[in-house]
Amino acid sequence: MDNCIFCAIAEHKIPSEIVYEDNLVVAFKDVKPIAPTHLLIIPKEHFKDFLEFSQSPKRAEISEALMHAVNTICEEQGIESFHLLNNCGEAHGQSVFHLHFHLISGVDLTKHIKF
Ligand code: AMP
Ligand code: ZN
Repeated sequence: MDNCIFCAIAEHKIPSEIVYEDNLVVAFKDVKPIAPTHLLIIPKEHFKDFLEFSQSPKRAEISEALMHAVNTICEEQGIESFHLLNNCGEAHGQSVFHLHFHLISGVDLTKHIKF
């Protein structure tokens, strides 16, 4: 999609620190990390948010690829404990409207949030 920064990253049109890539998924370092490990995992295909993605006929195949990416990254980087976070919608903090999951490790966010 035009004018989408994460599509541009997935297409290698703008620089980013990619840590994982396969035919369906890319993972790269967040430009403003809030923890020692702060990665963004995205499908290469553009979905504006989790809800749009969850209605796609490709959701199963891409979900599997996203999980495989998380697993591979954790194994490669020796990560055993982390948050996997999606902000869906502007009212809940989403600022880039291309589906992404934050993989955050090294800071326990539950210490700052009371569930
Ligand atoms: P969210 O607020 O959940 O939509 O998260 C968007 C995230 O994208 C934020 O943590 C930003 O720091 C990050 N971000 C925005 N632009 C870039 C970029 N060009 N490269 C890497 N991360 C980015
Ligand atoms: Zn996009």
